[in-house]
Amino acid sequence: MSDSTLIIALTSLLAVVVLAFVLRVRPQDLPPAEKPSPFAHLDERKAAIYENLRDLQFEYRVGKLSDTDYQNTKTDLQKQLAAVLAEVDRLKAGTGSEVNGTAAAAAAAKSAVKASAFKCSHCGAKFERELRFCGECGKAMSHV
Ligand SMILES: [Zn+2]
Repeated sequence: MSDSTLIIALTSLLAVVVLAFVLRVRPQDLPPAEKPSPFAHLDERKAAIYENLRDLQFEYRVGKLSDTDYQNTKTDLQKQLAAVLAEVDRLKAGTGSEVNGTAAAAAAAKSAVKASAFKCSHCGAKFERELRFCGECGKAMSHV
């Protein structure tokens, strides 16, 4: 009897500790918070919202807030957070594709110039540098 009581007590204690740990680390443990971002003002807003969520959870747990207040404020903060995260994603996606697009376009333009300069007149294979013989068909390449 004393053995099973002890086990139950230990299991309960473990559950409480795990729960407390999960509740404590979850808000600041979300991946977006760890990523460095060039959008400082959005990061600041995001950090402020995380902090508000932490404070809110703390105040709720110590009994300063009613369930309704807690839920309403939490929902509100989560909406703000979602909006900020969406904005960050949108800006990142926009900037990312812009940068990649520019780089890809530049690379494509560069290789297009080179490729058109060294094209095999026999098989049409394109090369980035001048060759005496075509690497594809092996025939002598004449450069125009
Ligand atoms: Zn060829």
